[in-house]
Amino acid sequence: MDQKIALIERAKEMDVEFIHLQFTDILGVMKNVAITIEQLEKALDNEIMFDGSSIDGFVRIEESDMYLRPDLSTFVVLPWTNYPREARLICDIYKADETPFEGCPRNTLKKVLQEAADMGYIMNVGPECEFFLFHTDEKGQPSLETHDNAGYFDLAPIDLGGNARKDMTVILKQMGFEIETSHHEVAPGQHEIDFKYADALTTADNIMTFKMVVRLIAQRHGLHATFMPKPKFGVSGSGMHINMSLETLDGKNAFYDEGDEMKLSQVAYHFLGGVMDHAKGFTAITNPTVNSYKRLVPGYEAPVLIAWSASNRSPLIRIPAKRGNSTRIELRNPDPSANPYLALAAILKAGLDGIKNKIEPPTPVTSNVYHMEEQEMKEKGIEYLPGNIYEAVQWLSKDAVIKEALGDHIYEKFVDAVLYEWTEYSRYISQWELDRYLRKF
Ligand code: GLN
Ligand code: MG
Ligand code: MG
Ligand code: MG
Repeated sequence: MDQKIALIERAKEMDVEFIHLQFTDILGVMKNVAITIEQLEKALDNEIMFDGSSIDGFVRIEESDMYLRPDLSTFVVLPWTNYPREARLICDIYKADETPFEGCPRNTLKKVLQEAADMGYIMNVGPECEFFLFHTDEKGQPSLETHDNAGYFDLAPIDLGGNARKDMTVILKQMGFEIETSHHEVAPGQHEIDFKYADALTTADNIMTFKMVVRLIAQRHGLHATFMPKPKFGVSGSGMHINMSLETLDGKNAFYDEGDEMKLSQVAYHFLGGVMDHAKGFTAITNPTVNSYKRLVPGYEAPVLIAWSASNRSPLIRIPAKRGNSTRIELRNPDPSANPYLALAAILKAGLDGIKNKIEPPTPVTSNVYHMEEQEMKEKGIEYLPGNIYEAVQWLSKDAVIKEALGDHIYEKFVDAVLYEWTEYSRYISQWELDRYLRKF
């Protein structure tokens, strides 16, 4: 039977009345257009249009007709809806002339994945998304108070955060996620839920779905979930570590080599070399907010230096101990404010560049790099990650490889948006300044 017809029948059988056609904008925000079941056939024939000019960073008014192309494999009934039931489909954005729209991050990732496929590789990614759960006040506004130090709740017999996390896990499982671990993180109110790796496109879709579910379920528990990278001074921030490997078209892990001292293949070393070489260039994408750089400071298990290690958790890249099919590289600077499609496109492009140009990684570090002296850094040629989003954008503007991964449209819109924020932030008078200078001068 025709795939589209089968999907429509399945939706009807499951009493689905509404379908959310979802896509992600350049800044990583999920958008959706809801249609009724009667419109589903039209949607699957790629006939649903929307006005691209009403979305941040998309297009000018003159060229605003955009079409949504649902990816049939992403159809999922939203488990928290009863009657009428609702489902979602993730879409690519196409232009009126039926070519992929350059401003669609999902198309951008697909383009780099195709480049990898042409070289004989599939990228697999397992993310580790961390987030905070905060209490909300009487008006439903988020506070910075957490369930585990919020006075009153200390006495409550139930762990609000733990319960919310359990419900998130249940819903995610109903949506087809395989949850590997779910645990409380280092900071009060901080959590992590890890789901099983998949190909990069599926993982980027999963990250968007994951964030939506976490926010929604938190809300149902009277909590606010935030993926803001560093919501509180003095405690850990939230990262989104990216565990990745390449798979050959015949299903083998291309990073594994039994014969090597570290059991890593040439491909793995070159990929690593490329990622390190372009780390400064892609940090604006993996860490896209002003706040992202307040997480990238010493002392909280977030990276500061561009170094790699087989064991230590302070450098940019760690090689987890597992080998064989689980051989992978863990990149530790990305945070959950990143657009997952663009972040994976940029990181993969960096790795592929390493393979193409046989870029050798530097020697690994073994010590805790937080304590490394400037002299030793100089000798080993170890550099810092960009210190703020402005610096990161400057590095991005000099990195032709990462810019090519993004394409001109996304590069320009992204930089405009980020620099606008930076300028506003730079002019803002913060509480820190008032505390420090108001009396002093
Ligand atoms: N929260 C840390 C970060 O910002 C990571 C902590 C961990 O998972 N070991 O990356
Ligand atoms: Mg983890
Ligand atoms: Mg963690
Ligand atoms: Mg990790």
